[in-house]
Amino acid sequence: MRMTVIGTGYVGTVHAACMADIGHQVLGIDIDAERIAALSAGRAPIHESGLDELLARTVASGRLRFSTSLADGAAFARTHFVCVGTPQRPDSHAADLRYVDAVVDGLAPHLRPGSLVVGKSTVPVGTAARLAERLAGAASAPGTEVAWNPEFLREGSAVRDTMRPERLVVGVTSRHAEGVLRAIYAPMILAGVPFFSTDPATAELVKVAANSFLATKISFINAMAEVCDAAGADASVLARAIGADSRIGPRFLAPGLGFGGSCFPKDIRAFAARAEEIGAGEAVEFLHEVDRINTRQRSRTVDQARRLLGGSFTGRRAGVLGAAFKPGSDDVRDSPALVVAAALQEQGATVRVHDPEAIDNARDAHPELTYALDVDKACEDADLVLHLTDWPEYRDIDPAALATLVRSPVLLDARNSLDAGSWSAAGWAVHAPGRPRLCAPAPSKAETAALAGGAS
Ligand code: NAD
Repeated sequence: MRMTVIGTGYVGTVHAACMADIGHQVLGIDIDAERIAALSAGRAPIHESGLDELLARTVASGRLRFSTSLADGAAFARTHFVCVGTPQRPDSHAADLRYVDAVVDGLAPHLRPGSLVVGKSTVPVGTAARLAERLAGAASAPGTEVAWNPEFLREGSAVRDTMRPERLVVGVTSRHAEGVLRAIYAPMILAGVPFFSTDPATAELVKVAANSFLATKISFINAMAEVCDAAGADASVLARAIGADSRIGPRFLAPGLGFGGSCFPKDIRAFAARAEEIGAGEAVEFLHEVDRINTRQRSRTVDQARRLLGGSFTGRRAGVLGAAFKPGSDDVRDSPALVVAAALQEQGATVRVHDPEAIDNARDAHPELTYALDVDKACEDADLVLHLTDWPEYRDIDPAALATLVRSPVLLDARNSLDAGSWSAAGWAVHAPGRPRLCAPAPSKAETAALAGGAS
């Protein structure tokens, strides 16, 4: 089938390449000419596992091409996936829909009759209906329908999530639109992926409800970590123990620095703002608290770092592990790691940041920070090492070797995922949110032997 994918960012690039890989003819469209030139040469604008190979293969096959022209797109296909950004508005918590609106307005004069505009961007409920009205006024597009097909891919596993999603949700107003989307996703449906066909409003809400639930789970365990810190209890044991309950489940229950990125924070805020507009604000009032708990984890991390450095950052060195908002991605939008790193620097510390993939993006966002291409360089002479993004690489660090490079072996594992036992056995004082009894390094062999000797 022929289709366009408009907006070639994290969602659009992956969607376009995956659709081409399963056999469709795809034209990717973006207003960013540089991005389109790179994509046309088979170069991915983002880091995602498997994307480079997929892009090279589909561009070489001729099934995936790129353009900057919506008119070309309308001439090429009758199905148009809209994947442009929907960031938070600068003046409020609501979603900024200017990019979505610009695509629809730009397509309208060129659309052929009977076209299908399929939104994948995350939008406030009611957007599809509003866009349908907008398009109905455009004379050149009789019979055009607007559907919504929210995207659930996770950065870091975006290609896998698109090829084998956990569910497909389509919000449609006709059997024709449902048929087109079933045909496009036929290989996934045949492979058993659940397919939910509903109205556009429900489809729009499925996406924000899912993100709100996950954000709530993360903030819940972080609130428990705050209580554990006050009570001298261990939030990581608590998380494992409640997660063993099959009604709760262990995922998204790691106490730590909280969520960031381009989705959860702005999606829960936009959801609360939209609910307020439609008279249901009270129902999602709790999302404000979820947001507050999440933001507080960043300031709690900075406060804990300051305490560990004796009350002041001035003249102290911090080695920061991680800049991306999550492992597996080079995305630094609203990254908790960078927010913490920047706060340390602003308050007088000298900060050196390492990340396996996100350094270029981090440097663009925070040019005032110093970046290091390897962990050793980031941590050299550090008074404190902070683990802020949970890249699997960091679990392979040899804590004994790193201890010889730092000025003092103090680790703040804000992601609560390094092996505290082996770090403290290597002489580190290990601190982590929700685990106030963690900090003492394990006794050395000599100390253990001396203790054993003293006892006998
Ligand atoms: P992004 O910022 O990475 O990409 C957006 C792209 O749209 C950019 O390349 C931009 O140049 C392009 N664009 C802007 N205006 C345009 C126009 N008028 N015509 C053509 N192209 C235009 O955004 P993203 O992270 O891919 O997110 C896109 C949407 O998908 C958002 O609504 C987001 O909330 C949602 N979403 C994102 C993810 C994710 O993990 N990133 C997951 C699910 C849903």
